[in-house]
Amino acid sequence: GYQRVLEENRKLYNQVQDLKGSIRVYCRVRPFLPGQPNSVSTVDWLDEGSITINTPAKYGKDGRKSFTFNKVFGPSATQEEVFADTQPLIRSALDGYNVCIFAYGQTGSGKTHTMTGPKELTQESVGVNYRALSDLFLISEQRKETISYLISVQMIEIYNEQVRDLLVTDGLNKRYPFERNTLEIRNSSQNGVNVPEANLVPVSSTSEVIKLMNLGQKNRAVGATSMNDRSSRSHSCLTVHVQGRELASGMTLRGSMHLVDLAGSERVDKSEVVGDRLKEAQHINKSLSALGDVISSLSQKNSHVPYRNSKLTQLLQDSLGGQAKTLMFVHISPEPDAVGETISTLKFAERVSTVELGAARINKDNSDVKELKEQIANLKAALARKE
Ligand code: ADP
Ligand code: MG
Repeated sequence: GYQRVLEENRKLYNQVQDLKGSIRVYCRVRPFLPGQPNSVSTVDWLDEGSITINTPAKYGKDGRKSFTFNKVFGPSATQEEVFADTQPLIRSALDGYNVCIFAYGQTGSGKTHTMTGPKELTQESVGVNYRALSDLFLISEQRKETISYLISVQMIEIYNEQVRDLLVTDGLNKRYPFERNTLEIRNSSQNGVNVPEANLVPVSSTSEVIKLMNLGQKNRAVGATSMNDRSSRSHSCLTVHVQGRELASGMTLRGSMHLVDLAGSERVDKSEVVGDRLKEAQHINKSLSALGDVISSLSQKNSHVPYRNSKLTQLLQDSLGGQAKTLMFVHISPEPDAVGETISTLKFAERVSTVELGAARINKDNSDVKELKEQIANLKAALARKE
């Protein structure tokens, strides 16, 4: 009787409390690529939760620097292993949470590999994006007797501080790069932060998702740089909107998931680039440093958080602040000549991991921690009276 209900409630309460804490940070080290000249990795040591980098003298006295994260994936970690540790977060979008997963790192470090996969996709090599959606379909199918779900996706890109829809097919060649097609990011109390003008496409199968992602991928602004011909100087964001309705009660919930592949974080030597490349570099620096400023002010618990300083931070506003569940994949390259970027990437990631989030909140019409707390207190009192 009471004892069981009390236990059930405590379990539920603990689950909610578990979501409290910092932004989760997972570090992933890219393997050396085939055809690369042999060199020794800058990674001296790694285990499940920490990584040590061999550094030239200028970065640390004893030539080594260690960092701790929620999880560290070495160069041999598979896509499946990486996804396994991400899955619980993803599933919570179906429970009405706002989830945000973003990939950070210098160009060529493996961001797109983690989020989307390599150029030739196979069942083993697909990244978090595809796996996340298949998983949502699977779970929503399992729950269909009790909850009916509507899942829709949007895919946008932020390039030079302009927001573009990547899911456009009509006259794409003519409209792309659609200089005038810059979309507004809105913040409404009902729908949270969203881009209402971007195509919102309902999806119910993995094959539909693959088609859309291919379209989005094609539409992304890519161009050649000396570092990586697939490098990208835009941020791309796949947003999954989840609407659920509990069949018995009619209660509705709304979850969302942002899957963000950020532009390369490397500092660009301004003397090397001119014209469009310089403009791109400046915009990337601006949005990534705005992201850094938001993270700093959150970790210092400042009352004013400067979300409005860039499109990126505006878009991620509900995912970085109080009530979201946020995971950052930080990527590093193993090459010795990348060590400067590797250290600054890991330092940034360490700063991110200190940001405390409030308890994640469900966008549901009748649930919150306070209520559960009260219930537990009442049950405890009832139990005490019985004994
Ligand atoms: P980014 O998006 O950060 O610029 P990419 O994801 O394009 O980097 O990775 C650069 C190259 O390295 C690609 O050819 C990619 O397939 C490969 N790569 C990245 N991470 C891995 C990994 N974990 N295992 C195997 N190959 C990888
Ligand atoms: Mg990429």
